[in-house]
Amino acid sequence: MAQNIGFIGLGIMGKPMALNLLKAGYALTVFNRSRPAIAELVAAGATAGASVADVASQSDIVITMLPDSPDVESVMLGQDGILAGAREGLLVIDMSTIAPAVAQRVTDEAHQRGVHTLDAPVSGGDKGAIAGTLSIMVGGSVEDFERALPVFEALGKTITHCGPSGAGQTVKACNQVAVALTIQAVSEALVLGSKAGVQPEIILKVLGGGLAQSRVMDMRGPTMIEHHFEPGFKARLHQKDLRIITQTAQTYGVVLPMTTLVDQLFTALIEGGGGDLDHSALLTVVEQLSNHSLMQKA
Ligand code: NAD
Repeated sequence: MAQNIGFIGLGIMGKPMALNLLKAGYALTVFNRSRPAIAELVAAGATAGASVADVASQSDIVITMLPDSPDVESVMLGQDGILAGAREGLLVIDMSTIAPAVAQRVTDEAHQRGVHTLDAPVSGGDKGAIAGTLSIMVGGSVEDFERALPVFEALGKTITHCGPSGAGQTVKACNQVAVALTIQAVSEALVLGSKAGVQPEIILKVLGGGLAQSRVMDMRGPTMIEHHFEPGFKARLHQKDLRIITQTAQTYGVVLPMTTLVDQLFTALIEGGGGDLDHSALLTVVEQLSNHSLMQKA
């Protein structure tokens, strides 16, 4: 079935995802807060929407890829937002990482207007967005999941229906616990070995061939030891996720001591001016506390 897709939020993730939808042959109408990304998409064949509501009015499916819960709430529910422009039967797929409770609230409002929703956050980073190999975790009805599946297949490789509305965001929160703690673990391993006199490259090689191997270490280890911290995934967005995780843990009475500790270390990174660096810059906090930089090469 021919589908007109609207795409709102053309940042580090949204821009390459939108380009992949164009490559897959979808007609795309786009909107973003800043203009340069819109111009790039238009040059690649998309149409520029005049507003969020305008994008919604022209679309069968609207995808949002925005920073945080308040952004999704205002883009969905605001005066000139998606619900203001939506036709009945529109499917809105929010692929941002937001609080599961907000995803459920937005869904309730949308359903009252005859608009369908899925929460479908992703993992795989900017590289996965560019390659179209994201892991997509989806909450919502099975019917809406099946309607969206061909679109997801243009964006990702591992596509999983996790449960009802909010379930995708819950699984994403679990993912972000594991990623944050792994970055911290890799940072501690590298600073320990390096200050004790071993080359960081050797540490990465050995750990990468054994039980400690991880995708985080494979993808970020080499850039961490070179102090290349261009995002990727901004540290301030990962701390936003940690806030979501802590709130969700409180809701369900779950104790997450290590996540809380790593949240504090993210605060140190962000207060030190590193909020727009890649989240792997958490390494620099361990370096500062240990008075040793990997750049000293032991
Ligand atoms: P980003 O800051 O690069 O992009 C966000 C985009 O949204 C920007 O282009 C901004 O102009 C636009 N925007 C913000 N408010 C808007 C509004 N009201 N109307 C229209 N456009 C608006 O962020 P990102 O890295 O692309 O992340 C987007 C989401 O994906 C976040 O929820 C993030 O947590 C999640 N995520 C990011 C990564 C990653 O590696 N970068 C990986 C997985 C998930």
